[in-house]
Amino acid sequence: MGATGFFADMRAGYKENLFAKIARLMQSAGVGNIVSEGDLAAIKLHFGERGNHAFIRPIFIRRIVDELAKAGAKPFLTDSSTLYPGERKEAVSALRCAIENGFAYAVVNAPLIMCDGIKGQNAVNVRIDGEILKNVSIGAEIVEADALIAVSHFKCHELTGFGGALKNLGMGCSSRKGKMQQHSTVAPKVAEKICNGCGACIKACAHNAIPMVDGKAHISVEACVGCSRCITACPQKAINVQWNESSALVMKKMAEYAAGAVSNKSGKTLFINFITQVSPACDCYGHADAPIVNDIGICVSTDPVAIDQACADLVNAAVGNQHTALASGHEPGGDKFRGVHPEIDWEIQLDHAEKMGIGSREYELVKL
Ligand code: SF4
Ligand code: SF4
Repeated sequence: MGATGFFADMRAGYKENLFAKIARLMQSAGVGNIVSEGDLAAIKLHFGERGNHAFIRPIFIRRIVDELAKAGAKPFLTDSSTLYPGERKEAVSALRCAIENGFAYAVVNAPLIMCDGIKGQNAVNVRIDGEILKNVSIGAEIVEADALIAVSHFKCHELTGFGGALKNLGMGCSSRKGKMQQHSTVAPKVAEKICNGCGACIKACAHNAIPMVDGKAHISVEACVGCSRCITACPQKAINVQWNESSALVMKKMAEYAAGAVSNKSGKTLFINFITQVSPACDCYGHADAPIVNDIGICVSTDPVAIDQACADLVNAAVGNQHTALASGHEPGGDKFRGVHPEIDWEIQLDHAEKMGIGSREYELVKL
C-alpha cells in the first residue's frame, strides 16, 4: 500500500488564493497530529545563495509558520552551512544572506537558527543501519527539535538529477563533516599556489593533520578525519573538498543520511515540496537559470520518498519549456531530469531511500 500525498496546482482565484491552499494542504496531511502544543518545530529549508532567486518565497514560508503556530508549535527556520567556501560557509554570513533574501523575522514570523552551529560543526552522531554508512553526522538542532517540517524547492540538480525532500533531509540536515562524508572519500586539498602559509588552518585542525612544509600547508591524509573545519578557516580559500565521489554513491549516502535525519522523529515529520521555478541546478549557485517547465504546484506528505516520486512524475508529465537548459524530453512523459543532466540516474536516491525504510515509491496523490 502506497503513501498518500496531497497536491494543489497553481490555480488561484477570489475564492481561494495560494496561501489558503497551503493551509488546506497542511491540514489535509494532518499537521495537527504531527505537532503538539509547545513543540519546537524545525522548518528546514534552503535560504538560497546570494544572487539566486529560485528558492521558495518567504511569504509562502510565513503561511507554513502560521499554520504550525496555529497547531500549537513554536516553529523556527533552519538551514546548514555549506561545505564549499562560499557566501554561506558559516552561520553569520549564511544568516545575513538569508535575511537579504527575504527570510527576515518581519516577513516569516519565526526566528532563524542554523542547525549545525556557527561553523557547521555542531552535530550529533546518529547510528543507522545503512548499506554504506553506520554513523551519520546530523546538525544538532535537527536532532534536538521535537518535529521536523522539510520544505523543499523541487528542481533539477547537477549531481542527483533532482533535488527535493530527500536532498533537503540528507544533505541539508547534515553537518559539514556529514556533507564531506557524502561528497568525498579523501581529505581536502591545499592549493599550494594560493596558500600563503598563514597557519590559520593548522590552528583550526583539532587532529594535528596539517604540517607546514616549506611555508605551505599540507594535509596528512592519514591523520585527517574529514571534519572540513580547515576549509572554513582558510582566509585565502586555498583549501577545497575533493569532489571525488560518484553521483550514484552520493545519492545512496544521501538517502542514508536522510534516514539518520528522521530517525528520532517517528510521526513528527511533514514534507512540503514546491514545484515552482524548476531550475536546472541547485539553489547553491549565485544565479538561477530559466525554469525547464512552468510552475506546477505544491505537494505535502508525511512520506519523503513518495513526495519526491510524485513531484518527479509531475515534472516529467509536463511539457518542457523551449529555450531553456532542457535539451531533450520536452514532450509530456519525457525524462526532464535526464534532459538536463543526461548522465545522472536520479532514481537511485528514491530506490535507496525506499530500501532504507523511510518511505515508499508507490503513492496516491489526492488533488485539492
Ligand atoms: S578536514 Fe579536519 S581533520 Fe582534516 S585537515 Fe581539515 S581540519 Fe584537520
Ligand atoms: S589557512 Fe590557507 S593560506 Fe593559511 S596556511 Fe592554511 S591553507 Fe595556507
